[in-house]
Formats: sequence, structure tokens, C-alpha cells
Amino acid sequence: MSEPVAHTGKGLPLHTRILIGLGIGAVFGVAANLTLGGSHDAVLWVNKYLAGPVGQIFLRLLFMIVMPLVFASIALGVAGLGDLRKVGRVGGKAIAYFLITTALAAALGILLVLAVRPGTRIPDEVRANLLRTYASDASAKVEASAAQDFGIQTLVNIVTTNPLKSAVDMDMIGLIFFGLMFGAALTLIPMARARPMLDVLEALQDVVIKIVEMAMRLAPFGVAGLIFGVTSRFGLQLLAPLGTYMLVVLGGLLIHVLVTLSAIIRFGAGLSPLLFLGRIRASILTAFSTSSSAATLPTNLAVAEQNLGIPAQIAGFVLPIGTTMCMNGTALFEGITVIFLAQVFGVELTVPTMVIVMIMSVITAVGAAGVPGGSIPLLVGILVMFGIPAEGIALILGVDRILDMSRTTVNTIGDLSAAAVIARSEGVWSAASVPAVEMLGRPEGHLDESPGWPTSGILIGEPLPGRIGDAPAVAPPVSPRGK
Ligand code: ASP
Repeated sequence: MSEPVAHTGKGLPLHTRILIGLGIGAVFGVAANLTLGGSHDAVLWVNKYLAGPVGQIFLRLLFMIVMPLVFASIALGVAGLGDLRKVGRVGGKAIAYFLITTALAAALGILLVLAVRPGTRIPDEVRANLLRTYASDASAKVEASAAQDFGIQTLVNIVTTNPLKSAVDMDMIGLIFFGLMFGAALTLIPMARARPMLDVLEALQDVVIKIVEMAMRLAPFGVAGLIFGVTSRFGLQLLAPLGTYMLVVLGGLLIHVLVTLSAIIRFGAGLSPLLFLGRIRASILTAFSTSSSAATLPTNLAVAEQNLGIPAQIAGFVLPIGTTMCMNGTALFEGITVIFLAQVFGVELTVPTMVIVMIMSVITAVGAAGVPGGSIPLLVGILVMFGIPAEGIALILGVDRILDMSRTTVNTIGDLSAAAVIARSEGVWSAASVPAVEMLGRPEGHLDESPGWPTSGILIGEPLPGRIGDAPAVAPPVSPRGK
């Protein structure tokens, strides 16, 4: 796995530079709008020859890798489950857990965004303007998708007749289906034959993630250009609804952790959610600071085994799959963002379409790479699919870092809760297995740049006499892994 995107470039961290880009773009854009007006020649010139092209190049770089990324991630994800045949039961439970919690998160997000409607707080006149500017070809797509009734043909169409055409047409469902079949078939042929293809897919995935990193270097400029384009035309009116949108995402993430996951931890794992969250705080900090589930995996493994006492064979199996497949926070964010942007651009989505948005949020969250901004290219794909102008992504990119940190944290809590619930259901772990360890030290000094590797001192604590739970046994932490 390549390095987290946050490490690209020198000097200021990438997310700081993106925020600066956002600030510069917004300040100059608003200033131009207030002083010269949105249709002044100079403003139009800057948008046509400077801000617009820089923003477009950044967006096109993201578009460029959507399809290979979807295919490689899905095929590898399924192929990775080759062990399923060996540990079929655990694998089946893990996937069921990932899908159910991710679907619950996406549904919660969609309900919240429908209730609060942050995207409709934009004045009609600004939205009409936006539609004229960005959505020239959206109506055709909306008509096309409206004409497609959600019925038996929708299901039949999932089976693509030509995966290359699906890729060319940005037909994500067709490509995802092909990726699923491809990955499944890879597990059914002899390993000696499958290995070269797996190597190619892994290399392909590394390459596209590297391209995401390279694109992200351009992000501060791209975001500045895109935001200048938006604010110079529309002034401040457009930025106000973003605050509400962010609150909906952050509120949704919080509710998912405090209500849904806490209930699962309480009843599924038989553990106090507060104790659980306290025990996994090294993982929480690492996920929050790196915005990367992949970078948090080593910390997760150490935390699961040492701080929760989960047996290595369960943690070592469930957590790595969870890193790519269990993305509760990402699905919640995607569901909210798709509907928010549909509201902003006045794209009407019917109830069946929203169900498809939910399903797509789950599927793409499962397929997203666990790297900073890993879900953004897939999100762009969903927008295209529903006829929502993909340029809308510019609206949220500037504030995405804080959302990414938060959703990655929720993704990680989901991974660890899965390991606990599955270990308990297998009868190999219970609340009584949690070692009473006080964690000493924190990954201080790494809060911004840590790739998440556990260093000595992060997790190692002093065993206290006894364990949490009702068993009186005194036992040392379970595994030395990660020390
Ligand atoms: N950064 C997220 C993760 O690693 C993925 C995403 O939602 O962009 O879990």
C-alpha cells in the first residue's frame, strides 16, 4: 500500500494547503463578485483561462482513475476472500456485519439529509444560475435515468454485456458486477494461475492510488480554481449552506457511533460502549490524524489483541478485510453528499432512486480505498450516474478534510466493533476477556503526519490486576503483536 496522501509534498501538510487554497479561492472569488460582479469581463477571463482550467485538470485527473480503481478494488476485495472457503463462517459473518452496519449508516445519512435539506437553503435564483452554468447536460441524464423504471430490467442491466463499454460509459454498476465476478472466479482457479493476475491487480491498485496522490498535490490549486469559479459567479450565498451540510455529516457520524454502533457493542459484544471506546482510543486518534483506514490497520490489530483481548486469528482475519470493506462513515458521508448535491442542483430524486443511492453508497464505500479522500473518485462516479453535475464535488472538497478525518474514525470504530462481535459469536471472546490495561502515552507529535504505525509507548500499558467483566481471572494481555 502506498503512503497516505497526506504525506505528499513538503512543508505544510496537504490538508492545510487545501484549506489555504479554499480560502484564497473563496476570498478572491467573493471579492471579485462583490466589486466587479459575476459577469465582468475580467472575472470571466480569469475563469476561462486560469481558475477554470486548473480546476478542470484536477477534476479530470480524478475522473481518469475512477474506473480502474473501482475494478481493481472490487476484484481484489472479493479475491481476498478466497480464505472464505477456509474460514467460511467467520467470513460470512464479517461480510454480513459490514454490509448491515454500512447500510444502516447510509440510511441514517440519507434520512438526516432529507429531514434537514441543507441543499435547498440556496436561494432559487442562485440555484437557477448554478443549473444554467453546470447542468447543461444534466437534464438529458436525469431524463435518461427517470425513463429507466426501477424494475426487473434494472436488475437485468446489472449484468453488463460488455465491461469495457461499462467502463467507457462510466456505468459503475456494470463494472462493479464484472469486478465481483472476476474476483470470485480468481478464487476458484488454481492459485498458481491466479497469482499473476492478483499481482497485476495489486499493482494496478497501487498505481491508481499513486495517481490519486499526484492529483491531490494539485488539489490546493484545483480547489482554489474551482471555488473561485463558484464564488466569483455566485458570491457568498452559496457558502452558507455548506455549514449546515457539514453539521449534518458530523451529526450523522456522531449518531451512528453513539446510537447504532454503541447498541451493537452493548448487545452484540456484551461490552460497555464507553469502555470499548476508551480501549480503542489509539485507533481513534490514528484514524482521525491520518484519514486513512489502511494506515490505521496496524494500530487496529495491536489494539484489538492487546487492549480488547480479541484472539489474533479473528482480529487478523476480520480487521484487514474491514479496512477496505467496512466503511460505515464513508457510506453515511456519500449518501448525504449525493442527496445534498442533488438538492443544490435541483435534481429530483424519487424514493426508489434514493434506495439506489443508498445501495450505491454501500457498494462504493465497500470498494473505496482506505486512503485519504479514497471515496471521492467513487463519489464522483455516483454523481454522474444520477445526473448530478460532478463539478458539484468542488463545493465540498474544501471542507472534505475534516469530514474525511471524522468518517475514517467511524470506519475504524466499525472495524473493531465487527472484530469484537464476531469473536463473541464464535465463542472465543467475551467482555471478560478484555485485559484491564491502562493505556499509557499517546501518539502525540504525530497527530497530523503519523502514518499510523504503532510505536512503542502508544499501546503498551501496565496490566492491572484483574480483567474487565465478571470473570475474576488475572491474565496478561493476549498477544505481543505490535509491541
Ligand atoms: N479516508 C477514508 C478511509 O480511509 C476513505 C474515504 O472515505 O475517503 O477510511
